[in-house]
Amino acid sequence: MRKPKIVILGAGYGGLMTTVRLQKQLGVNEADITLVNKNNYHYESTWLHEASAGTLPADRTRYKVTDVIDKSKVHFLVDTVTSINREEKTVALSKGGELNYDYLVVSLGYEAETFGIKGLKEHAFSIANLNAARQIREHIEYQFATYNTEKDRRDDRLTIVVGGAGFTGIEFLGELANRAPELCQEFDVPQEKVRIICVEAAPTVLPGFDPELVEYAVNQLEKKGVEFKIGTAIKEATEEGIIVAKDDQVEEIKAGTVVWAAGVRGNHLVEDSGFENMRGRVKVDPYLRAPGHDDVFIVGDCSLIINEEINRPYPPTAQIAMQQGEICAKNLAVLVRGQGELEAFTPDLKGSVCSLGEDDAIGVVFGRKVWGSKASFMKKMVDNRALFMIGGPGLVMKKGKFNIL
Ligand code: FAD
Repeated sequence: MRKPKIVILGAGYGGLMTTVRLQKQLGVNEADITLVNKNNYHYESTWLHEASAGTLPADRTRYKVTDVIDKSKVHFLVDTVTSINREEKTVALSKGGELNYDYLVVSLGYEAETFGIKGLKEHAFSIANLNAARQIREHIEYQFATYNTEKDRRDDRLTIVVGGAGFTGIEFLGELANRAPELCQEFDVPQEKVRIICVEAAPTVLPGFDPELVEYAVNQLEKKGVEFKIGTAIKEATEEGIIVAKDDQVEEIKAGTVVWAAGVRGNHLVEDSGFENMRGRVKVDPYLRAPGHDDVFIVGDCSLIINEEINRPYPPTAQIAMQQGEICAKNLAVLVRGQGELEAFTPDLKGSVCSLGEDDAIGVVFGRKVWGSKASFMKKMVDNRALFMIGGPGLVMKKGKFNIL
């Protein structure tokens, strides 16, 4: 009998979790499993703010996909998906190949959403993937390295604007605030010339987070020199910096570096492939399938699930992507074997911890508020847990964060 073909697109948190669980649940003769990923490595997207600021070497955030998959059960292709044909049940790849599937898992992750703001795509960076993180780090270092070599020194070279005071923006600001004094020392730059400015359109930092913890975060970051412009919208990004507006007051902020951290969307391929979607995210059925496509599962940031309690979508997180991966693998095994019942997905949120740099953080874990070094310790445990869930203790020993005292 022909074995069903399962094709998994993307080796991020969702795709890799689906793969490692599936390889445990299915025998070699039960299915042909193919995993496709742009790179031969997985990167921890949740650590990219550190790689971008330069507080963690980029290499620490990644590991080889072949270190965690069972090559006797999973065929791994390093290639870029260029399109998905839902009618023909095929996936086209950039090296010219085509894959056909009986079951497809779309786990292609997130992209920056710039909401049509003029100039952002051209003039701002976004922490989109490992290559982007390396580029941001190099760019910031270049600004510091160039400062003392110019005849007419431009102080605004050393201004870094971060667009967005959500989770990613705040975590990046925490790293930047720690990194700036190191860069000043390394490149003989006076610390007072450096400005780190956060611009946020919403009336508060970290909307939705506990107000007491938000106040703690803002105080801690301000103590390290971060300036906040809240209730202020970025109207345009230019070669010179950004133009912002607050209550009809328009201001130009000249900056050597602008990083946009205020919005993500699902992968554009989801949109291009004709799935019903909202900004590249598909509102999946309870079993994580695309509406009208019982053979297509969508997990991670390309999926959208509604939190019925507040009638709003859950924010896309690695925590949810990994939990979806577990359920997706179970459901695929049920379909392949033609026995058992599909399991509905319900997020089991254990909390969230937002780092404020190496040794500080805020969070709510199992309903309890934590901050400072205790929260920072928990953040590292969360990071290590993600490694453990996918690669077991060996991966934690190799890549884990142990500088916890
Ligand atoms: P990803 O992990 O992004 O993986 C997608 C994969 O698909 C990648 O390997 C990519 O290379 C591959 N891919 C993309 N396009 C193609 C293509 N065309 N062909 C082949 N392969 C392709 N979440 C939390 O829960 N907690 C946190 O503390 C947290 N912190 C964050 C901090 C930062 C700086 C950022 C940026 C995000 C953070 N998140 C956090 C969110 C979290 O990283 C995402 O929700 C998560 O990565 C989504 O997982 P995913 O599997 O959908 O996609």
